[in-house]
Amino acid sequence: MDEIKELYQEIILDHNKNPKNYGELENYNYTSEGYNPLCGDRLNIYLQIEDQKIKDIRFVASGCAISKASASVMTTVLKGKSIEEAKELFKKFQKLITTNAGDEPDFKEYGKLAVFAGVREFPTRVKCASLGWHTVIAALEDKNEMVTTE
Ligand code: ZN
Repeated sequence: MDEIKELYQEIILDHNKNPKNYGELENYNYTSEGYNPLCGDRLNIYLQIEDQKIKDIRFVASGCAISKASASVMTTVLKGKSIEEAKELFKKFQKLITTNAGDEPDFKEYGKLAVFAGVREFPTRVKCASLGWHTVIAALEDKNEMVTTE
């Protein structure tokens, strides 16, 4: 288990250093801004939605490694998904990062998102890991106000 944890940590650090889908999207039609006051993480999500599908997604963030890496992995998972699928994945991800640390999640079921399972052991980091997701959901629901994790 420790080796897996180390590997996951490496993936998180790598996504923090070289985030995927980073930068503003030119032709976005949905956007939202998220803020996690507990840690000071801020991020903006830009989505291009066509026929109820996420055709493109990009983000800009300033904050801790967890918030940035989580948003980066999230964009790779969400690209090409339908809005409904995105909402389902959000629920799944919430469950993954909040389930008691004692229960091992089904790693096969979670795919790339499983790297964030370790966050469960650090309750203050849960909001960092979920900020990007909350912000995407707010953008999809077309809420213009800023999202905070409070
Ligand atoms: Zn954070």
